[in-house]
Amino acid sequence: MSQSDPNCIFCKIVAGQIPCKKVYEDEEFLAFHDIAPWAPVHFLIIPKQHIISLAHLTSEHEGLMGRLMTLIPKLAAQEGCNPYPEGGFRLVTNTGKEGGQEVHHLHFHVMGGPRPWLKG
Ligand code: 5GP
Ligand code: ZN
Repeated sequence: MSQSDPNCIFCKIVAGQIPCKKVYEDEEFLAFHDIAPWAPVHFLIIPKQHIISLAHLTSEHEGLMGRLMTLIPKLAAQEGCNPYPEGGFRLVTNTGKEGGQEVHHLHFHVMGGPRPWLKG
């Protein structure tokens, strides 16, 4: 299915070349704990396919992104985010340099749990 970039750290995680604390995996997606968490729950979910950023999505990704969005609340609950509305979670996608993107493989930060958090 997918292209991967041999120099991309998240493609290396997908390939098992770099270890991660896995939260979820299927054919299309991988979710794993962020190495430097800001919140009691902080994991990343990525498409296995090397898509550079949200700015690189095309109409061919609509189904993939729809499946991703419906997966996120399930994984948030599984990882210990408390239920809406008192609980909930924050979803962040940094895009490009001015958007604060450091890893150029599309990823969504899912953060939750009791406050205070390190950031935000
Ligand atoms: P960005 O700033 O691109 O949105 O976020 C990249 C995130 O990836 C950061 O929160 C950073 O802590 C996380 N990260 C970078 N390298 C690794 C890694 O090798 N393993 C894991 N689990 N997370 C990483
Ligand atoms: Zn990649």
